[in-house]
Amino acid sequence: MSEERSLNFIEEIVEEDIRNGKNDGRVLTRFPPEPNGYLHIGHAKSICLNFGLAQKYNGKTNLRFDDTNPSTEETEYVDSIKTDVKWLGFNWDKELYSSDYFDQLFDFAVALISKGLAYVDDSTAEEIAASKGTPTEPGKPTPNRDRSIEENLQLFNEMKDGVYPDGAKVLRAKIDLANSNMHLRDPLMYRIKWAHHHRTGDKWCIYPMYDFAHGQSDSIEEITHSICTLEFIPHRPLYEWFIDQLNIFPSKQYEFARLNMTYTVMSKRKLLQLVNEKHVTGWDDPRMPTISGLRRRGYTPLSIRNFCEKIGVAKRENIIDVSLLEFCIREDLNKSAWRRMAVLDPIKLVITNYPEGQTEILIGENNPEAEDGEGNRDIPFTNEMWIEREDFMEIPPKKFFRLGVGLSVRLKHAYIVKCDSFVKDESGNVTEIHCTYFPESKSGSDTSGISVKGTIHWVSAQNAKTAEIRLYDRLFKVEDLSIEEGDFKNYINQDSLQVIKNAFVEPDLLNALNQKSINEHIRYQFIRKGYFALDDDSTPENLVFNRIVTLKDAWTKK
Ligand code: ATP
Ligand code: MG
Repeated sequence: MSEERSLNFIEEIVEEDIRNGKNDGRVLTRFPPEPNGYLHIGHAKSICLNFGLAQKYNGKTNLRFDDTNPSTEETEYVDSIKTDVKWLGFNWDKELYSSDYFDQLFDFAVALISKGLAYVDDSTAEEIAASKGTPTEPGKPTPNRDRSIEENLQLFNEMKDGVYPDGAKVLRAKIDLANSNMHLRDPLMYRIKWAHHHRTGDKWCIYPMYDFAHGQSDSIEEITHSICTLEFIPHRPLYEWFIDQLNIFPSKQYEFARLNMTYTVMSKRKLLQLVNEKHVTGWDDPRMPTISGLRRRGYTPLSIRNFCEKIGVAKRENIIDVSLLEFCIREDLNKSAWRRMAVLDPIKLVITNYPEGQTEILIGENNPEAEDGEGNRDIPFTNEMWIEREDFMEIPPKKFFRLGVGLSVRLKHAYIVKCDSFVKDESGNVTEIHCTYFPESKSGSDTSGISVKGTIHWVSAQNAKTAEIRLYDRLFKVEDLSIEEGDFKNYINQDSLQVIKNAFVEPDLLNALNQKSINEHIRYQFIRKGYFALDDDSTPENLVFNRIVTLKDAWTKK
């Protein structure tokens, strides 16, 4: 965390609480994902906030799986969430599950029934919705609202014991059908759902609703600051009502603005659609805004934490430009990435005065931004090279500081070469460029006296490794999907992936395969081409690199 920024509003609340000795100065937060999908960059904001607060105020954070909805939850998601939180650099205190509280929550419900504060309602979902009224009109009681406590206790136990089918009955809090807050008009507490739960199996056929589970789970854990997103503001009175009526630990709810980002969607439901309908290759497709997608793309945990720090914590919703995220990864990789050369669109360059069969080993620093350079790698130099097709022009315009007949450039880390001629095939495509090199012009010991304006990257043709390069663009064509009409999938950018099958890279990049641990995975700057990371699809025969981000912001707004 940077020291100089002012406190955000939640930090102000926490500091005030500590000053007042509330909860004896104890700070306990929780990150409460529902395990129904993979985490996305919006969750990273919540993770950084919850764990960051605890770190700053000497507190702790629980990882609590909010797993009260059996039909959408899976162990695969639980595992991925744990991997992602750890990868982001955070350690939770306890790993907990709302489903572990099902017995306790049942007892809480019985306690409310016993106080006359909850009742079993036989109405259908439609009848309940119709009787709730509108924001301007009060609701009407359903026929079961005044059942006796004894009857409610018996029916609720029968619901639990499996006497009734799905939807036959619900348990509702008895609060106020005329309340201006619709969430207080006798909200549902329990529903019947004959479904297998990823942890409790078939033990239960009734499950608590979010509003009855979340606050009580916070309270059971004695969470001091329960932080959630703005849409839960209208739920807060209910959160407090349950805690007051049950007279249990008074956790407090605070709301902040969720993260929205340009050119993407940020809801698990929509991300799941992209996966299921195969618009992407999976949750970890490098174009996805998921943590696993960003990781596979090559983002670092530090860049994501810096991003969350930069966007701050606000009370009003806005949309963050994805270029800020890209700025954060560039800022990190400019300091940490290892420099390598890769030719994405190759054309052959032959040095006619360099002995065929000779190989000279040149030395290149891994990271010129680091004081010690982080070591060197060997770069073989030979008479045949691959260079970038765009670095040659048949008829070069003025100020073209690369290759054309009569023009000279420096080959990075190596010699100056001058283009003498080129070869074309029958259809007129340039297939080879012929150059002479100047033996005295070697980088680091140049006594040639020749000066050139351009430096280009290259790879020895005799030593190059073939690689597949995947270039990514925005997943969606429009900036703000929330204001577009119709199905969000109509706005998918069909050109978001470009695969280059026959790129050539420095032979040293075979060592990238040894960098196995995702945390220590080295990222690369392919000189002049952008930042890249090795993809897990790689084999020694076929290296695959993902472009993390271009060197400069190339996205221009219309
Ligand atoms: P989604 O809408 O993507 O399904 P969710 O809110 O249902 O998200 P949960 O698993 O319930 O997902 O979220 C866990 C925590 O992360 C919650 O506290 C939630 O408020 C927070 N969170 C979810 N999305 C965002 C977001 N875009 N920005 C900030 N926090 C978020
Ligand atoms: Mg949710």
